[in-house]
Amino acid sequence: MKPARETLEVLDKLESQHPGADTELHYKTPFQLLVATILSAQSTDARVNMVTPALFKRYRDARALAKATPAALEPQIHSTGFFRAKARALIRMAQALVKQHGGEVPASMDALVELPGVGRKTANVVLGHALGVPGLPVDRHVLRVANRIGIAESDDPVVVEQQLCAAVPKERWTRTSDTLILHGRRICRPKPLCDQCAVRDECDYFRLVVARARDGKAPKKPKKMPAKAAAPHRGSKSIRAARR
Ligand code: SF4
Repeated sequence: MKPARETLEVLDKLESQHPGADTELHYKTPFQLLVATILSAQSTDARVNMVTPALFKRYRDARALAKATPAALEPQIHSTGFFRAKARALIRMAQALVKQHGGEVPASMDALVELPGVGRKTANVVLGHALGVPGLPVDRHVLRVANRIGIAESDDPVVVEQQLCAAVPKERWTRTSDTLILHGRRICRPKPLCDQCAVRDECDYFRLVVARARDGKAPKKPKKMPAKAAAPHRGSKSIRAARR
């Protein structure tokens, strides 16, 4: 895994490639971001943003959502997928907010992860973007991109969060996550577009897998690179592009 100094250099380059990276979920309050983030599981931010305007109009706060019934809520969130489980989670989360926090979203990781349907990733999203508390959410994009480049080294999101937080100053945590997520969505996709990447020269995956394939050599798996990040891409578009 790269030392902190190199990690920061990589992040500087990625921030230059993706200036102003931020969550793409639409929200006005911490409660709305909490709801939107729960809905975004196994969905896209664009899809969630289509659903939430009507949802937030009907359920303005935790007290209103706590009184919702699954029968009323499910059709409204149907298109985000897993709508039955999400409806149950949202109602239980809102009821817990009302009962334990007077309807307000607490500004603490410990309190947030106690809420039904809220894990570390969701809590970090809300803390970092809506509550002014530094947080570094690790989703599948952060996991894949950080492991490929070599600025983290684990399949476990909690371990990757710890590794990145140790290397990056607190005030950059949220921006770091947003930048890695955007890079994973636009460039370092499951089939990465390495020819468009600002950190190709620093990337372990490019050096050990993509560049070797370009030269007709067998890919090398970096030490401890998780299987998901090291998925083979021999013959993929990215390798063909890198050959050019
Ligand atoms: S060089 Fe390729 S694999 Fe490495 S971060 Fe960039 S897009 Fe991802």
